[in-house]
Amino acid sequence: MNIVYVSSEVEPFAKTGGLADVAGALPLAFARKGHRVTVILPYYGVVKKKGLPIRPAERTIRVPMGRSEETGRIFESPMEGESRFLLVEHPGYYEAGEGLYGTPEGDYPNNAARFAFFCKAAAAIAEGIGKKADIVHCNDWQTGLLPAYVGRARGSASVFRDSRSVFTIHNLAYQGLFPAEGFGLTGLPENLFRPYGGIEFYGKVGYLKAGIVFADAITTVSRRYAEEIRSPEFGAGLEDLLDSRADRVFGILNGIDTGVWNPETDPHIAARYSAAKLDGKKKCKEALQEECGLPVDPQIPLVGMITRLADQKGLDLVVDVLPRLRRVKFQLVLLGTGDERYHRIFRGLAGKMRGKVSVHLKFDDALAHRIEAGSDIFLMPSRYEPCGLNQMYSLRYGTVPIVRATGGLADTVVDHNEETAGAGTANGFRFEEATAEALEGALRRAFALFPKRRAWLRLVRTGMAADFSWERSAAEYETLFKRLLAEPAPATG
Ligand code: ADP
Repeated sequence: MNIVYVSSEVEPFAKTGGLADVAGALPLAFARKGHRVTVILPYYGVVKKKGLPIRPAERTIRVPMGRSEETGRIFESPMEGESRFLLVEHPGYYEAGEGLYGTPEGDYPNNAARFAFFCKAAAAIAEGIGKKADIVHCNDWQTGLLPAYVGRARGSASVFRDSRSVFTIHNLAYQGLFPAEGFGLTGLPENLFRPYGGIEFYGKVGYLKAGIVFADAITTVSRRYAEEIRSPEFGAGLEDLLDSRADRVFGILNGIDTGVWNPETDPHIAARYSAAKLDGKKKCKEALQEECGLPVDPQIPLVGMITRLADQKGLDLVVDVLPRLRRVKFQLVLLGTGDERYHRIFRGLAGKMRGKVSVHLKFDDALAHRIEAGSDIFLMPSRYEPCGLNQMYSLRYGTVPIVRATGGLADTVVDHNEETAGAGTANGFRFEEATAEALEGALRRAFALFPKRRAWLRLVRTGMAADFSWERSAAEYETLFKRLLAEPAPATG
Protein backbone atom coordinates (compact mmCIF):
# COMPACT_ATOMS: atom_id res chain seq x y z
CA MET A 1 0.00 0.00 0.00
CA ASN A 2 0.96 3.58 -0.53
CA ILE A 3 0.41 5.28 2.82
CA VAL A 4 0.57 9.03 3.39
CA TYR A 5 0.92 9.62 7.14
CA VAL A 6 0.43 13.20 8.31
CA SER A 7 1.21 14.46 11.80
CA SER A 8 2.13 17.79 13.41
CA GLU A 9 4.73 16.07 15.59
CA VAL A 10 6.97 13.08 14.92
CA GLU A 11 9.82 11.66 17.00
CA PRO A 12 12.77 12.37 16.72
CA PHE A 13 11.97 15.61 14.86
CA ALA A 14 9.43 17.38 17.06
CA LYS A 15 7.54 16.35 20.18
CA THR A 16 5.17 17.73 22.79
CA GLY A 17 3.46 14.48 23.79
CA GLY A 18 2.44 10.92 23.03
CA LEU A 19 1.37 11.72 19.45
CA ALA A 20 5.04 12.17 18.52
CA ASP A 21 5.90 8.71 19.87
CA VAL A 22 3.12 7.10 17.86
CA ALA A 23 3.99 9.04 14.71
CA GLY A 24 7.65 8.13 15.17
CA ALA A 25 6.98 4.41 15.53
CA LEU A 26 3.84 3.37 13.65
CA PRO A 27 4.92 4.52 10.15
CA LEU A 28 8.18 2.61 10.61
CA ALA A 29 6.21 -0.50 11.47
CA PHE A 30 4.15 0.03 8.26
CA ALA A 31 7.38 0.38 6.28
CA ARG A 32 8.80 -2.81 7.83
CA LYS A 33 5.68 -4.59 6.60
CA GLY A 34 6.62 -3.59 3.07
CA HIS A 35 4.34 -0.60 2.53
CA ARG A 36 5.57 2.64 0.99
CA VAL A 37 5.11 5.32 3.63
CA THR A 38 5.44 9.08 3.27
CA VAL A 39 5.34 10.86 6.62
CA ILE A 40 4.60 14.58 6.31
CA LEU A 41 5.25 17.09 9.11
CA PRO A 42 6.01 20.81 9.46
CA TYR A 43 9.66 21.88 9.40
CA TYR A 44 9.67 23.80 12.68
CA GLY A 45 12.51 26.12 13.56
CA VAL A 46 13.28 23.90 16.57
CA VAL A 47 13.82 20.92 14.25
CA LYS A 48 16.44 22.87 12.30
CA LYS A 49 18.59 23.16 15.41
CA LYS A 50 18.73 19.42 16.05
CA GLY A 51 21.25 18.41 13.41
CA LEU A 52 19.13 15.56 12.04
CA PRO A 53 19.80 14.18 8.54
CA ILE A 54 17.47 16.48 6.61
CA ARG A 55 18.17 17.86 3.13
CA PRO A 56 16.26 19.99 0.64
CA ALA A 57 14.07 17.99 -1.73
CA GLU A 58 14.50 20.78 -4.32
CA ARG A 59 10.77 21.19 -4.54
CA THR A 60 8.25 23.82 -3.55
CA ILE A 61 4.49 23.75 -3.29
CA ARG A 62 2.11 26.65 -3.71
CA VAL A 63 -1.30 26.64 -2.06
CA PRO A 64 -4.13 29.18 -1.89
CA MET A 65 -4.67 30.72 1.55
CA GLY A 66 -7.72 32.98 1.55
CA ARG A 67 -7.13 35.53 -1.20
CA SER A 68 -3.39 35.04 -1.48
CA GLU A 69 -1.10 32.14 -2.25
CA GLU A 70 1.60 30.78 0.01
CA THR A 71 4.73 28.86 -0.87
CA GLY A 72 6.36 26.08 1.10
CA ARG A 73 9.72 24.41 0.51
CA ILE A 74 9.98 20.66 0.94
CA PHE A 75 12.80 18.91 2.77
CA GLU A 76 13.34 15.21 3.19
CA SER A 77 14.84 12.72 5.59
CA PRO A 78 15.33 9.00 4.88
CA MET A 79 13.29 6.28 6.62
CA GLU A 80 13.58 2.88 4.98
CA GLY A 81 13.56 1.76 1.35
CA GLU A 82 11.26 4.05 -0.58
CA SER A 83 9.69 5.37 2.61
CA ARG A 84 10.72 8.79 3.88
CA PHE A 85 9.89 11.82 5.96
CA LEU A 86 8.95 15.03 4.16
CA LEU A 87 9.06 18.32 6.03
CA VAL A 88 7.24 21.47 4.96
CA GLU A 89 9.14 24.68 5.48
CA HIS A 90 7.33 28.00 5.83
CA PRO A 91 9.26 30.54 7.93
CA GLY A 92 6.18 32.67 8.62
CA TYR A 93 4.25 29.74 10.07
CA TYR A 94 6.75 27.38 11.65
CA GLU A 95 9.70 29.41 12.80
CA ALA A 96 8.10 31.98 15.10
CA GLY A 97 9.18 30.45 18.41
CA GLU A 98 10.27 27.40 20.37
CA GLY A 99 6.80 25.92 20.91
CA LEU A 100 5.04 23.85 18.27
CA TYR A 101 1.63 25.35 19.00
CA GLY A 102 2.29 28.35 21.21
CA THR A 103 4.18 29.87 24.11
CA PRO A 104 3.58 29.30 27.84
CA GLU A 105 1.28 32.36 27.63
CA GLY A 106 -1.01 30.73 25.11
CA ASP A 107 -1.54 29.43 21.58
CA TYR A 108 -0.06 31.20 18.56
CA PRO A 109 -2.66 33.61 17.16
CA ASN A 110 -2.26 32.20 13.64
CA ASN A 111 -2.74 28.50 14.41
CA ALA A 112 -5.81 28.35 12.15
CA ALA A 113 -3.67 29.47 9.21
CA ARG A 114 -0.63 27.42 10.25
CA PHE A 115 -2.52 24.14 10.16
CA ALA A 116 -4.87 24.92 7.26
CA PHE A 117 -1.65 25.54 5.33
CA PHE A 118 -0.15 22.31 6.66
CA CYS A 119 -3.14 20.25 5.46
CA LYS A 120 -3.16 21.91 2.04
CA ALA A 121 0.60 21.47 1.78
CA ALA A 122 0.30 17.76 2.62
CA ALA A 123 -2.29 17.33 -0.14
CA ALA A 124 -0.14 19.30 -2.60
CA ILE A 125 2.96 17.25 -1.73
CA ALA A 126 1.11 13.99 -2.35
CA GLU A 127 -0.18 15.33 -5.68
CA GLY A 128 3.35 16.42 -6.56
CA ILE A 129 4.74 12.93 -5.92
CA GLY A 130 2.12 11.76 -8.36
CA LYS A 131 1.66 8.25 -6.95
CA LYS A 132 -1.86 7.12 -6.14
CA ALA A 133 -2.33 7.33 -2.37
CA ASP A 134 -4.18 4.33 -0.99
CA ILE A 135 -4.42 5.52 2.59
CA VAL A 136 -4.16 9.04 3.96
CA HIS A 137 -3.66 8.70 7.71
CA CYS A 138 -4.28 11.91 9.69
CA ASN A 139 -3.79 12.64 13.40
CA ASP A 140 -5.55 15.04 15.76
CA TRP A 141 -6.97 18.50 15.03
CA GLN A 142 -3.86 19.81 13.26
CA THR A 143 -4.63 17.48 10.34
CA GLY A 144 -8.44 17.53 10.63
CA LEU A 145 -9.03 19.43 7.37
CA LEU A 146 -7.13 16.93 5.27
CA PRO A 147 -9.86 14.23 5.17
CA ALA A 148 -12.18 16.94 3.76
CA TYR A 149 -9.67 17.73 0.99
CA VAL A 150 -9.18 14.03 0.23
CA GLY A 151 -12.93 13.48 0.03
CA ARG A 152 -13.34 16.41 -2.37
CA ALA A 153 -10.57 15.16 -4.65
CA ARG A 154 -12.19 11.77 -5.09
CA GLY A 155 -13.31 10.87 -8.56
CA SER A 156 -11.07 13.52 -10.12
CA ALA A 157 -7.71 13.12 -11.80
CA SER A 158 -6.02 13.25 -8.42
CA VAL A 159 -3.69 10.95 -6.50
CA PHE A 160 -6.59 10.79 -4.04
CA ARG A 161 -9.11 9.48 -6.57
CA ASP A 162 -9.33 6.07 -4.86
CA SER A 163 -7.96 7.08 -1.44
CA ARG A 164 -9.42 6.25 1.91
CA SER A 165 -8.79 8.65 4.77
CA VAL A 166 -8.24 7.58 8.36
CA PHE A 167 -8.37 10.09 11.20
CA THR A 168 -6.85 9.07 14.53
CA ILE A 169 -7.88 10.88 17.70
CA HIS A 170 -5.11 10.88 20.30
CA ASN A 171 -6.60 13.63 22.40
CA LEU A 172 -10.22 14.65 22.10
CA ALA A 173 -9.75 17.53 24.51
CA TYR A 174 -7.83 19.62 21.96
CA GLN A 175 -10.32 20.45 19.24
CA GLY A 176 -8.64 23.15 17.15
CA LEU A 177 -11.51 25.65 17.46
CA PHE A 178 -11.10 28.98 15.62
CA PRO A 179 -13.17 32.11 15.01
CA ALA A 180 -15.78 31.89 12.24
CA GLU A 181 -14.13 34.80 10.36
CA GLY A 182 -11.24 32.49 9.53
CA PHE A 183 -13.41 29.92 7.77
CA GLY A 184 -12.11 31.18 4.40
CA LEU A 185 -8.66 29.83 5.26
CA THR A 186 -9.99 26.30 4.95
CA GLY A 187 -10.81 26.80 1.28
CA LEU A 188 -13.98 24.75 1.80
CA PRO A 189 -17.36 25.86 0.39
CA GLU A 190 -19.27 28.31 2.62
CA ASN A 191 -22.14 25.85 3.07
CA LEU A 192 -19.86 23.58 5.09
CA PHE A 193 -19.92 26.14 7.89
CA ARG A 194 -22.90 24.37 9.43
CA PRO A 195 -23.29 22.18 12.51
CA TYR A 196 -24.70 19.08 10.79
CA GLY A 197 -22.58 17.54 8.07
CA GLY A 198 -20.24 20.52 8.31
CA ILE A 199 -17.46 21.82 10.51
CA GLU A 200 -19.16 24.50 12.57
CA PHE A 201 -18.96 23.83 16.31
CA TYR A 202 -20.90 26.26 18.51
CA GLY A 203 -20.16 29.24 16.28
CA LYS A 204 -16.55 28.31 15.63
CA VAL A 205 -14.65 26.43 12.96
CA GLY A 206 -13.72 22.99 14.32
CA TYR A 207 -10.67 21.33 12.75
CA LEU A 208 -10.97 18.17 14.87
CA LYS A 209 -14.64 18.04 13.97
CA ALA A 210 -13.71 18.22 10.26
CA GLY A 211 -11.64 15.07 10.68
CA ILE A 212 -14.50 13.26 12.37
CA VAL A 213 -17.07 14.37 9.78
CA PHE A 214 -15.06 13.66 6.64
CA ALA A 215 -12.71 10.74 7.37
CA ASP A 216 -13.65 7.34 5.98
CA ALA A 217 -12.66 5.83 9.32
CA ILE A 218 -12.01 7.33 12.72
CA THR A 219 -9.72 5.55 15.10
CA THR A 220 -8.68 6.15 18.63
CA VAL A 221 -6.02 4.54 20.74
CA SER A 222 -7.97 1.83 22.56
CA ARG A 223 -11.24 -0.04 22.03
CA ARG A 224 -12.74 1.06 25.31
CA TYR A 225 -11.93 4.72 24.67
CA ALA A 226 -13.53 4.39 21.21
CA GLU A 227 -16.76 3.49 23.02
CA GLU A 228 -16.36 6.00 25.83
CA ILE A 229 -16.01 9.02 23.55
CA ARG A 230 -19.53 8.37 22.29
CA SER A 231 -20.87 9.28 25.75
CA PRO A 232 -21.31 12.77 27.29
CA GLU A 233 -18.83 11.97 30.09
CA PHE A 234 -15.91 11.56 27.67
CA GLY A 235 -17.14 13.03 24.38
CA ALA A 236 -16.27 16.72 24.94
CA GLY A 237 -19.42 17.79 23.10
CA LEU A 238 -18.65 15.61 20.07
CA GLU A 239 -20.36 12.49 21.46
CA ASP A 240 -23.47 12.76 19.27
CA LEU A 241 -21.42 13.22 16.12
CA LEU A 242 -19.17 10.31 17.08
CA ASP A 243 -22.20 8.20 17.91
CA SER A 244 -23.78 8.99 14.54
CA ARG A 245 -20.60 7.59 12.94
CA ALA A 246 -20.35 4.64 15.35
CA ASP A 247 -19.88 2.08 12.54
CA ARG A 248 -16.84 4.08 11.39
CA VAL A 249 -15.17 4.44 14.80
CA PHE A 250 -12.48 1.89 15.66
CA GLY A 251 -10.19 1.39 18.65
CA ILE A 252 -6.62 0.26 18.02
CA LEU A 253 -4.27 0.10 20.96
CA ASN A 254 -0.92 1.88 20.71
CA GLY A 255 2.25 -0.14 20.97
CA ILE A 256 5.23 0.52 23.21
CA ASP A 257 8.90 0.75 22.38
CA THR A 258 9.88 -2.77 23.36
CA GLY A 259 13.56 -1.96 22.77
CA VAL A 260 13.65 0.86 25.30
CA TRP A 261 11.32 -0.82 27.80
CA ASN A 262 12.86 -4.25 28.19
CA PRO A 263 13.93 -5.60 31.62
CA GLU A 264 16.37 -8.00 29.92
CA THR A 265 18.49 -5.17 28.48
CA ASP A 266 17.51 -2.00 30.40
CA PRO A 267 20.73 -0.08 31.19
CA HIS A 268 19.03 2.02 33.91
CA ILE A 269 18.15 -0.76 36.36
CA ALA A 270 20.14 -2.45 39.14
CA ALA A 271 19.90 -5.94 37.61
CA ARG A 272 18.48 -7.37 34.39
CA TYR A 273 15.76 -10.03 34.53
CA SER A 274 13.21 -11.97 32.48
CA ALA A 275 10.02 -13.97 33.11
CA ALA A 276 12.12 -17.14 33.28
CA LYS A 277 14.72 -15.61 35.59
CA LEU A 278 13.13 -13.16 37.99
CA ASP A 279 15.98 -12.90 40.53
CA GLY A 280 17.11 -9.55 39.16
CA LYS A 281 13.75 -8.01 39.99
CA LYS A 282 14.41 -8.59 43.72
CA LYS A 283 17.65 -6.66 43.40
CA CYS A 284 15.85 -3.85 41.61
CA LYS A 285 13.35 -3.62 44.47
CA GLU A 286 16.09 -3.56 47.08
CA ALA A 287 17.94 -0.83 45.17
CA LEU A 288 14.79 1.26 44.79
CA GLN A 289 13.90 0.98 48.49
CA GLU A 290 17.41 2.08 49.36
CA GLU A 291 17.41 4.96 46.87
CA CYS A 292 14.06 6.19 48.20
CA GLY A 293 14.97 5.99 51.89
CA LEU A 294 12.42 3.25 52.55
CA PRO A 295 13.01 0.20 54.79
CA VAL A 296 14.70 -2.46 52.64
CA ASP A 297 12.33 -5.39 53.04
CA PRO A 298 11.19 -7.80 50.31
CA GLN A 299 8.00 -8.63 52.27
CA ILE A 300 6.54 -5.12 52.13
CA PRO A 301 4.61 -4.53 48.90
CA LEU A 302 6.06 -1.56 47.03
CA VAL A 303 3.65 0.50 44.92
CA GLY A 304 5.03 2.70 42.13
CA MET A 305 3.47 5.66 40.30
CA ILE A 306 4.90 7.67 37.39
CA THR A 307 2.54 10.30 36.17
CA ARG A 308 1.78 13.82 35.06
CA LEU A 309 0.33 15.48 38.15
CA ALA A 310 -3.01 16.39 36.55
CA ASP A 311 -6.65 15.86 37.56
CA GLN A 312 -7.06 13.33 34.73
CA LYS A 313 -4.76 10.93 36.55
CA GLY A 314 -7.01 10.41 39.61
CA LEU A 315 -4.45 11.71 42.11
CA ASP A 316 -7.18 12.96 44.43
CA LEU A 317 -8.14 9.31 44.95
CA VAL A 318 -4.59 8.52 46.03
CA VAL A 319 -4.57 11.44 48.45
CA ASP A 320 -7.90 10.26 49.93
CA VAL A 321 -6.96 6.60 50.17
CA LEU A 322 -3.71 7.02 52.13
CA PRO A 323 -5.31 7.77 55.53
CA ARG A 324 -7.55 4.74 55.07
CA LEU A 325 -4.47 2.52 54.81
CA ARG A 326 -2.70 3.91 57.86
CA ARG A 327 -2.43 0.50 59.48
CA VAL A 328 -1.53 -1.41 56.32
CA LYS A 329 2.11 -2.21 55.62
CA PHE A 330 3.11 -0.99 52.16
CA GLN A 331 5.37 1.57 50.48
CA LEU A 332 4.58 4.14 47.81
CA VAL A 333 7.08 5.74 45.42
CA LEU A 334 5.68 8.55 43.28
CA LEU A 335 7.49 10.27 40.40
CA GLY A 336 5.71 13.15 38.69
CA THR A 337 5.47 16.78 37.75
CA GLY A 338 2.55 18.99 36.86
CA ASP A 339 0.00 21.09 38.72
CA GLU A 340 1.53 23.10 41.54
CA ARG A 341 -1.38 22.11 43.79
CA TYR A 342 -0.38 18.45 43.61
CA HIS A 343 3.28 19.31 44.15
CA ARG A 344 2.24 20.93 47.43
CA ILE A 345 -0.04 18.09 48.50
CA PHE A 346 2.47 15.33 47.79
CA ARG A 347 5.36 17.23 49.33
CA GLY A 348 3.24 17.48 52.50
CA LEU A 349 2.30 13.79 52.43
CA ALA A 350 5.90 12.69 51.98
CA GLY A 351 6.87 14.73 55.02
CA LYS A 352 4.14 13.22 57.15
CA MET A 353 4.61 9.63 55.97
CA ARG A 354 8.38 9.33 55.86
CA GLY A 355 9.52 5.72 55.55
CA LYS A 356 6.27 4.82 53.80
CA VAL A 357 5.75 7.38 51.03
CA SER A 358 8.62 8.65 48.86
CA VAL A 359 7.89 11.51 46.45
CA HIS A 360 10.02 12.75 43.52
CA LEU A 361 8.66 15.91 41.92
CA LYS A 362 10.63 15.99 38.68
CA PHE A 363 10.84 14.48 35.22
CA ASP A 364 13.42 11.71 35.32
CA ASP A 365 13.44 9.02 32.66
CA ALA A 366 16.07 6.82 34.34
CA LEU A 367 14.22 6.88 37.66
CA ALA A 368 11.04 5.96 35.76
CA HIS A 369 12.80 2.81 34.58
CA ARG A 370 14.02 2.02 38.10
CA ILE A 371 10.50 2.44 39.49
CA GLU A 372 9.01 0.18 36.81
CA ALA A 373 11.59 -2.50 37.60
CA GLY A 374 11.72 -2.12 41.39
CA SER A 375 8.02 -1.90 42.26
CA ASP A 376 5.75 -4.87 42.95
CA ILE A 377 2.61 -2.97 42.00
CA PHE A 378 2.02 -0.05 39.65
CA LEU A 379 -0.89 2.29 40.29
CA MET A 380 -2.91 4.17 37.62
CA PRO A 381 -6.23 5.39 39.04
CA SER A 382 -6.99 7.60 35.99
CA ARG A 383 -10.38 9.25 35.48
CA TYR A 384 -9.88 8.83 31.75
CA GLU A 385 -6.98 7.31 29.83
CA PRO A 386 -7.21 7.06 26.03
CA CYS A 387 -4.46 4.42 25.93
CA GLY A 388 -1.89 4.79 28.70
CA LEU A 389 1.67 3.56 28.38
CA ASN A 390 2.84 2.93 31.91
CA GLN A 391 0.49 0.01 32.53
CA MET A 392 2.00 -1.69 29.47
CA TYR A 393 5.56 -0.96 30.64
CA SER A 394 4.57 -2.37 34.04
CA LEU A 395 3.20 -5.60 32.61
CA ARG A 396 6.44 -6.03 30.67
CA TYR A 397 8.47 -5.44 33.85
CA GLY A 398 6.48 -7.94 35.92
CA THR A 399 5.03 -5.12 38.00
CA VAL A 400 1.37 -5.86 38.65
CA PRO A 401 -0.86 -2.94 37.60
CA ILE A 402 -3.81 -1.65 39.60
CA VAL A 403 -5.93 0.51 37.33
CA ARG A 404 -9.28 2.20 37.10
CA ALA A 405 -11.27 0.36 34.41
CA THR A 406 -11.26 3.09 31.76
CA GLY A 407 -9.92 3.52 28.21
CA GLY A 408 -6.73 1.65 27.40
CA LEU A 409 -6.34 0.60 31.03
CA ALA A 410 -9.51 -1.47 30.75
CA ASP A 411 -8.27 -2.99 27.49
CA THR A 412 -4.91 -4.14 28.80
CA VAL A 413 -5.43 -5.10 32.43
CA VAL A 414 -7.43 -8.23 33.29
CA ASP A 415 -8.75 -8.12 36.84
CA HIS A 416 -7.73 -10.92 39.18
CA ASN A 417 -10.74 -12.95 40.32
CA GLU A 418 -11.54 -16.62 40.73
CA GLU A 419 -12.46 -17.08 37.11
CA THR A 420 -9.54 -15.18 35.50
CA ALA A 421 -7.06 -16.66 37.96
CA GLY A 422 -8.33 -20.15 37.08
CA ALA A 423 -8.09 -19.41 33.36
CA GLY A 424 -4.62 -17.93 33.75
CA THR A 425 -5.64 -14.63 32.12
CA ALA A 426 -5.46 -12.36 35.18
CA ASN A 427 -2.59 -9.87 35.04
CA GLY A 428 -3.59 -7.15 37.52
CA PHE A 429 -6.38 -5.49 39.47
CA ARG A 430 -9.12 -3.13 38.30
CA PHE A 431 -11.70 -0.98 40.00
CA GLU A 432 -14.74 0.62 38.40
CA GLU A 433 -15.85 3.68 40.36
CA ALA A 434 -13.56 6.69 40.61
CA THR A 435 -13.74 6.70 44.42
CA ALA A 436 -11.25 6.24 47.24
CA GLU A 437 -13.39 3.29 48.49
CA ALA A 438 -13.07 1.45 45.19
CA LEU A 439 -9.34 2.15 44.99
CA GLU A 440 -8.92 0.97 48.58
CA GLY A 441 -10.70 -2.27 47.70
CA ALA A 442 -8.36 -2.95 44.78
CA LEU A 443 -5.25 -2.13 46.83
CA ARG A 444 -6.37 -4.40 49.66
CA ARG A 445 -7.03 -7.25 47.22
CA ALA A 446 -3.52 -6.83 45.80
CA PHE A 447 -1.90 -6.62 49.26
CA ALA A 448 -3.76 -9.80 50.27
CA LEU A 449 -2.52 -11.74 47.25
CA PHE A 450 1.05 -10.42 47.38
CA PRO A 451 2.32 -12.84 50.11
CA LYS A 452 0.86 -15.83 48.22
CA ARG A 453 3.97 -16.15 46.11
CA ARG A 454 2.79 -18.79 43.63
CA ALA A 455 -0.43 -16.99 42.80
CA TRP A 456 1.39 -13.64 42.62
CA LEU A 457 4.08 -14.96 40.30
CA ARG A 458 1.41 -16.35 38.01
CA LEU A 459 0.02 -12.83 37.69
CA VAL A 460 3.50 -11.47 37.05
CA ARG A 461 4.31 -14.02 34.36
CA THR A 462 0.98 -13.61 32.58
CA GLY A 463 1.66 -9.87 32.34
CA MET A 464 5.19 -10.38 31.08
CA ALA A 465 3.99 -12.68 28.28
CA ALA A 466 1.73 -10.07 26.64
CA ASP A 467 2.62 -8.57 23.24
CA PHE A 468 2.42 -4.77 23.13
CA SER A 469 4.76 -4.31 20.20
CA TRP A 470 4.10 -1.82 17.40
CA GLU A 471 3.99 -4.80 15.02
CA ARG A 472 0.75 -5.96 16.62
CA SER A 473 -0.69 -2.47 16.43
CA ALA A 474 0.42 -1.98 12.81
CA ALA A 475 -1.18 -5.30 11.86
CA GLU A 476 -4.53 -4.06 13.18
CA TYR A 477 -4.27 -0.83 11.20
CA GLU A 478 -3.34 -2.84 8.14
CA THR A 479 -6.49 -4.95 8.52
CA LEU A 480 -8.57 -1.77 8.78
CA PHE A 481 -6.87 -0.22 5.72
CA LYS A 482 -7.53 -3.33 3.63
CA ARG A 483 -11.13 -3.39 4.72
CA LEU A 484 -11.61 0.26 3.75
CA LEU A 485 -10.00 -0.27 0.36
CA ALA A 486 -12.23 -3.28 -0.30
CA GLU A 487 -15.39 -1.23 0.27
CA PRO A 488 -17.12 0.53 -2.61
CA ALA A 489 -15.70 4.03 -3.09
CA PRO A 490 -17.32 6.52 -0.71
CA ALA A 491 -19.20 9.48 -2.17
CA THR A 492 -17.17 12.52 -3.16
CA GLY A 493 -17.12 15.08 -0.35
P1 ADP B 1 0.09 10.71 29.35
O1 ADP B 1 0.46 10.67 27.88
O2 ADP B 1 -1.34 11.03 29.60
O3 ADP B 1 1.01 11.55 30.16
P2 ADP B 1 0.95 7.92 29.35
O4 ADP B 1 0.92 6.85 30.39
O5 ADP B 1 0.34 7.57 28.03
O6 ADP B 1 0.27 9.22 29.95
O7 ADP B 1 2.46 8.34 29.07
C1 ADP B 1 3.22 9.00 30.01
C2 ADP B 1 4.67 8.82 29.65
O8 ADP B 1 5.46 9.84 30.28
C3 ADP B 1 5.23 7.53 30.15
O9 ADP B 1 6.25 7.11 29.27
C4 ADP B 1 5.82 7.91 31.53
O10 ADP B 1 6.81 7.04 31.95
C5 ADP B 1 6.35 9.27 31.24
N1 ADP B 1 6.41 10.15 32.41
C6 ADP B 1 5.40 10.87 32.94
N2 ADP B 1 5.84 11.60 33.99
C7 ADP B 1 7.15 11.33 34.12
C8 ADP B 1 8.17 11.78 35.03
N3 ADP B 1 7.92 12.65 36.00
N4 ADP B 1 9.43 11.31 34.86
C9 ADP B 1 9.70 10.42 33.88
N5 ADP B 1 8.78 9.97 33.00
C10 ADP B 1 7.52 10.41 33.11
